[in-house]
Parts: sequence; C-alpha cells; structure tokens
Amino acid sequence: MRIVSLAGGIGGARFLRGLKSAAPDAKITVIGNTGDDITLFGLRVSPDLDTVMYTLGGGIDEEQGWGRAKESHVVKEELAAYGMQPQWFGLGDRDFATHIVRTQMLGAGFPLSQVTEALCTRWQPGVRLIPMSDDRTETHVVVSDSQGRRAIHFQEWWVRLRASLPAEEIVLVGADDARPAPGVVEAIQEADVVILPPSNPVVSIGTILQVKGIREALTAKTVVGVSPIIGGAPVRGMADACLTAIGVETSAQAVLEHYGADLIDGWLVAEEDAGVALDGVRVVARPLLMSDPEATAAIARAALDLAGELT
Ligand code: GDP
Ligand code: CA
Repeated sequence: MRIVSLAGGIGGARFLRGLKSAAPDAKITVIGNTGDDITLFGLRVSPDLDTVMYTLGGGIDEEQGWGRAKESHVVKEELAAYGMQPQWFGLGDRDFATHIVRTQMLGAGFPLSQVTEALCTRWQPGVRLIPMSDDRTETHVVVSDSQGRRAIHFQEWWVRLRASLPAEEIVLVGADDARPAPGVVEAIQEADVVILPPSNPVVSIGTILQVKGIREALTAKTVVGVSPIIGGAPVRGMADACLTAIGVETSAQAVLEHYGADLIDGWLVAEEDAGVALDGVRVVARPLLMSDPEATAAIARAALDLAGELT
C-alpha cells in the first residue's frame, strides 16, 4: 500500500510513528511543511522537517517533542555571550550540526529536497520525507503593538511571543511562486490513500495546501483527516490562536468545514465530537489522544480503516 501524509512538526511526527507501526509494510511518503523555516545565525533551520526526521529516526527529545535527545547548549550560550540575537529560539549543539549541513549543501546549490534526503540517509526515518517545495516560503504574522502594525516571522510570534499578540493576518510569503518539490505531486497521484495527521490546520497543513498544485492533486484522492481539535481545544499548543486569525472557530466541525468536502472524504473526530457532520464526508468518532505509541497506532489504524471503507 502507498500512503501519502502531509505533516507539520510534533503532532504530525507523533502520528506518523503510529502510522508506521499500524502499516509496517506500507510505502509512506511524507510531505513536510517548510513555512516554519527560518534563517538564524546564517543557518537555515527547517523545524518541522527535522521534527519528523528526528522523531521517526530515533533522535528526538521525547519529553519536549522537538530537538535532539541528550542535547547540550554550549554554542547557544557562547553566542549569547557575544550578545548575538535572537536568543529566544532554542538551538542545541547537536541540532546545530544538522543546520550546518543543510546550509552548506544549500549553499553548494542542492535543492532542499535533496538536502533532506541526504540528512535522512543518516536518520533512516523509514518514510520518504519530501519538503512541500524547494522554493523558499516563510509564514509571517501581522501583529500590532506599540511599534505599530507589522509583519513578523511566524517563529517570533509563536516562540518569542507565545502567540500573546493576536494575529491579524497569517501570510505565507512566497506562496505565489512556490512549486511543489520534485516527487510531491507524483507521490500523491500514485497514493492509495492520503492521510492528514492532526497537525495545525493553519500553519502546518494549511501552508502545504497553499503550494500550487498540491490541493488540486489531493482532491482527486481518498483523503482521511484526523482532527487536531478535541472538544473545542487544541490538545497541545496554541492552534486556536491560528484558527482565530483566519476566522475559523476552534472545533472539529469548523476545521472540517474549513478543509472542505472537496478535499476531505473521511474525518476522524474524538468521541466527544461525535456530532460533527458534513455532506459528502464520512465522520467516525474514536479516542484521538496520542497518549502513547499504542494509542497513536490505534488512531492511525482507524484512519486506514476509514480510508479502506471509502475506496
Ligand atoms: P507543530 O508544527 O510542532 O506545531 O506540530 P503540528 O502542526 O504537526 O501539530 C500540532 C497540533 O497537533 C496541535 O495544534 C494539536 O491540535 C495537535 N495535537 C497534539 N497532540 C494531539 C493529540 O494527542 N491528539 C490530537 N488529535 N491532536 C493533537
Ligand atoms: Ca511547525
């Protein structure tokens, strides 16, 4: 079986681990979000690609959900001693090596998709991980404060401000010119099923869907989504702040309507959201808390079962 999954960071990566164990023989292609990417200290950082790669490759900090296990922060401390900014983004020593390799390869002319493949040679994530695009895009957030109305990088809003200033707009800069990376559309076309994990519907899945050609390719397939919203709240994190910014209520129903029946064929909701319904979509209620690997694998199995009923 050939499965395509879109993915953001933590929510996507955890779900993918469950998907791998639910479908050990499947060929899984993951289309990763690069809207979170940022240049720091001259280094290109791809947080969501790395979270997927480290999580599936066994290098993740399990507690935190991102970054490397057994990490130290000597380089960060030394940079801070020079007064280098920003100091609000967590970069560990082990993680720095990944960004050095990425930046060096990009500088030598390799596209991000080939760089990601090279990094995955070490981590062997057991899936094919492709960035949504080789073209540079960045999610920016429009906020207003004492300095007036301005756009800041998504990471500054999310990590430094903890989404404390309301987002007036969330814009994927570069979206108009971004083409899907090589292999993305082909993988979708060849897929037996497409799964949307419970990643952030705005700044993870929503970003990937903005790359021209991806949504169009997906609408032709059987797509099953897993709701990231349970009982009116994001399970972890601040996805509600992103949904509010685009005028979507924080509920499993509203996220489904936002994705639309043209995209979604099956929608997994938590048991407390069993009333969710939309014409043209089969909705199934299951426990959706990724509390441990077994529970997560059960969610993935439910998604695959639902896809099986629909095809
Ligand atoms: P990020 O890029 O690291 O923010 O990660 P993602 O975009 O991949 O996933 C973040 C989303 O995962 C959050 O907005 C939550 O709504 C969702 N999420 C986290 N844990 C769970 C869980 O246990 N169950 C479900 N259904 N969703 C979850
Ligand atoms: Ca992310």
